[in-house]
Amino acid sequence: MSTVQRKAFLKKDGFTQHKNNARGNTIIYSRKHSTEKFVRIVVDSGIDKNTNKICGQAKAKLVYINRENHWRVITKEVSSNTISSLVQSQSNSISSVPQCKHCKAKKFTAKSGNVVCANACWTTWGNKKKTQKKSSQKTTQKTTQKSSQKKSARTYKKKSQKKSQQYYYLDLKVGDLVTVETIDISSQKILHDYKILGVITKIDDDNNVTTLWTTNETHLYSTIPKSNRIPLFVVGEIDSSWARFKVMSRKVEWVIK
Ligand SMILES: [Zn+2]
Repeated sequence: MSTVQRKAFLKKDGFTQHKNNARGNTIIYSRKHSTEKFVRIVVDSGIDKNTNKICGQAKAKLVYINRENHWRVITKEVSSNTISSLVQSQSNSISSVPQCKHCKAKKFTAKSGNVVCANACWTTWGNKKKTQKKSSQKTTQKTTQKSSQKKSARTYKKKSQKKSQQYYYLDLKVGDLVTVETIDISSQKILHDYKILGVITKIDDDNNVTTLWTTNETHLYSTIPKSNRIPLFVVGEIDSSWARFKVMSRKVEWVIK
């Protein structure tokens, strides 16, 4: 397949071209999986973006877009000269991707080699347990003062052990004017400025952020951030880039907490 043929197929099949390729010179495309909601098919066209000439086989993989809007690679990338069959086979391979039994997200192989939930949903389990402990602590206090004192000492110890989880945090406020930027994790360089403008309308207790965008951002749905707090170890685990909010209306930066 020539450059023209590859591009024509991708366009006809509903793929959109990515603005950046953080890892090389080839043009990257992606589109939604036809049946799986948070899954996209990512195609490395094998077309050099500078010369517009074919420089290698096309490659395809499936990614799962998690709750923090990070792309997790869930299938092994395969290559071929025929993009159409490549897309078809990757599309079908979704049936063999394992699923998290807790939150139903797809699983992926982390850097550690473990196959884990793409949403890292286990990181939120601790919060739930803490709330349960608190309420049970109260009832114990009412009944026997002595045993409750012992218990609270133990709870405190456990709490401080758990505190090791660190986050990137942005002190967002309702009413902030924001845009979205993608940065390279290692160099902290800005890869892409989305040039969209939104207003923060809600931030809930779980750090979920609701934004009213002034432009139609549906084509960017996979990139739009939805949180003001991201676990440090999730950022950059697979992808070297990170799409995040940037506040335009005042000076506030992402900090590690
Ligand atoms: Zn899960």
